[in-house]
Amino acid sequence: MSAVAEAIAEGRVGERLWLYPNYHCNLRCTYCLTESAPSVARRLLGPETIVERVHEARALGFTGVGITGGEPFLLDWMPELLVELAEILPVIVLSNATLFTGQRLTALEPLAGLPIHIQISLDSAEPRVNDEMRGPGNFAKVVAAISELVRRGIGVRLATTLEDPASHDAEELERLCELHRSLGVGDEDHVVRPIIRRGRAATGDMGVPAGADELEPELTITADGAFWSPFGPTVRAGALDTDLLVTRTTSPLAVAAGALVRVVGGRAAGHDARLGIR
Ligand code: SF4
Repeated sequence: MSAVAEAIAEGRVGERLWLYPNYHCNLRCTYCLTESAPSVARRLLGPETIVERVHEARALGFTGVGITGGEPFLLDWMPELLVELAEILPVIVLSNATLFTGQRLTALEPLAGLPIHIQISLDSAEPRVNDEMRGPGNFAKVVAAISELVRRGIGVRLATTLEDPASHDAEELERLCELHRSLGVGDEDHVVRPIIRRGRAATGDMGVPAGADELEPELTITADGAFWSPFGPTVRAGALDTDLLVTRTTSPLAVAAGALVRVVGGRAAGHDARLGIR
């Protein structure tokens, strides 16, 4: 067994390879780690590159793939790419779900029944509270999109990002859980996590600090290099953060994965328990 496969099997490195296809977004959330917005630098990774990296990932022992950004569904080729990736490894793709109407919604129909989950952000059962952070009209668009996806048999997960999950109003959170259950998304598909103090959240003095000591090592590939975690390749004041950059070399993937395993060293599995976000 290779050192990378061993590290994954022992839980010292996360079993999912993350990729950033883009950094731009139709939204501009107050806590966005990547300072995403419509006009930011795109930092694109093309579909051929992503497919190549995911084939390599499977050969190295990774058991899943995560796609994040930016808003991945701004890229017209994303649905087709996801179908191709799902033939290699199970996929989770993070989205704000505000683009899922008309032709963009129809384009998602081939995802039904495949090992693909779209992880959608919704932060509160109160539209006003949710929309304060994610933009006007966000709540209504997201709730409508979840219904449409579930109705089509497409896998949906929900992600709720809170300033401090431990001290959050339990009744308010329960109302959100009642809402997602009513939309057909079970408790096992709802993750609640803190705002990470990086990117726009750091500028706005929000969230909890997170570096290598708090974050599980999960190999993350962007156009700029390989990072420690999907929470690593963040942007502040327009500049890429490099404190969690592992190497600029992303091809072949074995070089990047080997570099991460070396940096992780003998760190025991579960070292990330302080934040516990994945
Ligand atoms: S948090 Fe997500 S949806 Fe919001 S601006 Fe950033 S990338 Fe876009």
